[in-house]
Amino acid sequence: MLPRVAWIGLGIMGSPMSENLLKAGYPVTGFTLEQHKLDRLAAHGGHRAPSVAAAVGEAGVIITMLPADAQVEAVAYGEDGILAHARPGALLIEMSTVAPRTARELARRAAEFGIRVLDAPVSGGEAGAVEGTLSIMAGGDPADFEEARPLLAALGSTVVHCGPHGSGQTVKAANQLIVAANIQACAEAVVFLAKSGVDPAPALEVLNGGLAASAVLTRKKRDFLTGEHTPGFRVELHHKDLGILTEAAREVGAVLPVGNLVATLMAALRAQGDGGLDHSALLRGVQRLSSPAGGR
Ligand code: NAD
Repeated sequence: MLPRVAWIGLGIMGSPMSENLLKAGYPVTGFTLEQHKLDRLAAHGGHRAPSVAAAVGEAGVIITMLPADAQVEAVAYGEDGILAHARPGALLIEMSTVAPRTARELARRAAEFGIRVLDAPVSGGEAGAVEGTLSIMAGGDPADFEEARPLLAALGSTVVHCGPHGSGQTVKAANQLIVAANIQACAEAVVFLAKSGVDPAPALEVLNGGLAASAVLTRKKRDFLTGEHTPGFRVELHHKDLGILTEAAREVGAVLPVGNLVATLMAALRAQGDGGLDHSALLRGVQRLSSPAGGR
């Protein structure tokens, strides 16, 4: 029989992901801060819970998909939280993007309550969440991963165990470096093309047929051409992830010149008031740098 699932955090990612679990036949009880997201879950056959404690009490599997470390820690360790109210033996699959250190600490503290933990952050964006084609990078006990594999397969098409607790988050940090650098390179190419008098539309088409091709170029092409940056994945979240990257790299002595540069460029974008836009708005930063008036 499929385990009862508690889903905490029904945002841009959590809503469609939880709906894919419902489609796969899992009973899902959800809790999140927005009432309309709970109503959406119920409309898809899920159950609304009035609190984290109420959601997790009967669950065999608990999934968290929250913004950042602070929310994960509050939901896990709070009085109303997961560790205080989940059944011993439950499996907590933490799918938010947080620091590897936070993931390791969560696993350690949960073990004291008899709760098993996998860190299983994702890549593939809102489209991947909707289509169930996410790339899922997991850290934790291999036996717990094998137990979770069928459930994770309902959410993603590439599901890989990467190593012990925290490894999934380390791989996710590497992912965020590659994605940010790729967006920045594409944004610079677009500004260079436009200022050179070359129409970026056919240029991006031909570039995406050669070695410059990327998922970023495919999925963000419209944003690059229209200058509209509706999230998607918000600048403020990517800024958070690049902070995780630079901190984790410092801890292990990895020197990342491009990683640190894109982290700074993302911080600038946020400081200039663009934190709520899609991360494709790195284009705006390049436009500002290339504009005599300092604007678009
Ligand atoms: P979001 O802000 O849209 O959703 C977060 C959800 O968490 C909201 O529904 C909010 O109500 C809920 N929440 C916050 N605090 C809570 C609390 N204390 N108790 C219960 N619920 C709470 O964020 P998102 O875009 O869905 O991203 C979620 C995570 O996934 C982040 O860590 C992000 O970095 C990561 N991620 C996002 C994307 C993307 O494209 N959006 C892609 C890959 C990974």
